[in-house]
Amino acid sequence: AVAMQVRTDQLQLLFRQSFLATFGSVGGALALSWLQRDLGNHSVIAPWLIMLCLAGTIRLALFWAYSRSAPEQRTPARWEGVYWVTLVFIAGTWGIGAFLLMSSSNLLSQVITLFFAVGMAGSAISAYSAYRYMPLIAVGLVLLPTTLWLLAQPGTEQRLLAFTTLAFSAFVVRATRELSGALHSLLRLRRELEIEHRIASNAARTDELTGLNNLRAFKEQADTMFAYTRRYGVPLCALLLDIDHFKQINDTHGHAAGDKVLQAVVQRLKTTLREADLCGRLGGEEFGVLLAGTDMHEAVQIAEKLRLAVQAIEVPVNDTTLHVTISVGVAEADLACTDTATLLAQADAAMYQAKSNGRNRVHSSFAQAPGAMACHQ
Ligand code: GH3
Ligand code: MG
Ligand code: MG
Repeated sequence: AVAMQVRTDQLQLLFRQSFLATFGSVGGALALSWLQRDLGNHSVIAPWLIMLCLAGTIRLALFWAYSRSAPEQRTPARWEGVYWVTLVFIAGTWGIGAFLLMSSSNLLSQVITLFFAVGMAGSAISAYSAYRYMPLIAVGLVLLPTTLWLLAQPGTEQRLLAFTTLAFSAFVVRATRELSGALHSLLRLRRELEIEHRIASNAARTDELTGLNNLRAFKEQADTMFAYTRRYGVPLCALLLDIDHFKQINDTHGHAAGDKVLQAVVQRLKTTLREADLCGRLGGEEFGVLLAGTDMHEAVQIAEKLRLAVQAIEVPVNDTTLHVTISVGVAEADLACTDTATLLAQADAAMYQAKSNGRNRVHSSFAQAPGAMACHQ
């Protein structure tokens, strides 16, 4: 998956880096043609420039299509092949055209041509460095027609020019390998770091045993939910759940059995609650639930549903089956309630009432200004 993402990043980098190069190839050809208007074979100029403009237009159409495509359609399989076609077309046209334009008898014309070809090759390195072989093919297509012809000439000057260009090309091959290699590992590292970061921040927010939000994540999301419901005048209720006599389970059947019970309870909470409800493990065998858009009446019904659902759980341990119950405190945030901590404290107080009333029951209260607690059950 990382390798695929890296290839997609490479493609994006290629499109970003090579946009100007499209204009550069036509601009360079124009300048070279003008310089050689008296020296070179000027019958070549018009068809050459027309071909380059055509190739450039096709490349620009490709850029246009890429920039308009949806991000999920920007896959290497879709774009790499057609990009290669435009690359070979542009670089090939440039290299062959420059060679045909060059005078076979005038050294100045040859030097000027080579100067431009080397310049074009240099820009190809920066434009296509996202891909290892693109700069190499571009440099080869731009330089080789002229260089190979010069190499075959009897004159010392021409051979020297050709050798120098070949030596330059050897350095280019090495530079592109290192440049594209460095870019590639940079893109890979970035993607890997992203994944690591996601795993780490996920771990920092999740309770390991149950996979539920931990206290930190619960509080963060609770604050957001609180602010949202206050802002839009939507009712908000909190449930505080605590497993009854949980210590006994640990003491009688061992800590591992206790863990199994915790996981079973959480599993049941998850399937009973709705997608939009916020649930978290606040500590040991205590869980918090926030219900947005739910008033006290509905919240008590949900709490009752959860209580019955937990009561029905059967946890097989060794040769017996364990049953557990929960006590639930319910609180609704009224206008005087200013933060989630107050709301949860009210739910907690209601939960303790449920405990002292005999456990395995739901007790509710409105979260009001401290001291003013109205009991509803
Ligand atoms: P009550 O009905 O009053 O709530 O009694 P209780 O025994 O449930 O409450 P108490 O707070 O005395 O005990 C909670 C126990 O939960 C104590 C602790 O060892 C246990 N506990 C806390 N976290 C874990 C855990 O992750 N795994 C297991 N197995 N036990 C845990
Ligand atoms: Mg308990
Ligand atoms: Mg407890």
